[in-house]
Amino acid sequence: MHETSLMENMLSIAEKAIEGKNVEVKRVTLSVGKLSNALPAALSFAFEAMTQTGPLSGAELVMEEIPVRVQCENCGCNYEPDEFPYICPGCGGIYYTVTQGEDIYIQSLDCLEK
Ligand SMILES: [Zn+2]
Repeated sequence: MHETSLMENMLSIAEKAIEGKNVEVKRVTLSVGKLSNALPAALSFAFEAMTQTGPLSGAELVMEEIPVRVQCENCGCNYEPDEFPYICPGCGGIYYTVTQGEDIYIQSLDCLEK
């Protein structure tokens, strides 16, 4: 499953970040792009399963949805589209480049010193 490997990658980054530090991770905050195609339920399921043991056990998962932003290829206008089809509010153009909202990444780790 797509979400499982995504979560695996992110958790290994988180584990690296706290490696050698005497801390307990309380909360992992993820930024989840609206276009990332990842299901929040599947992400949290994978998180639960992978944090049963190990350095991140007991941590809470928080997900923040990142809205989509695109840039119009015609006039360069940067806007936040609602739904397909995306139409530029500046010129009515339909060609665009996605500038935000496709990725999933760790936004922050909240740690407590042990
Ligand atoms: Zn435009």
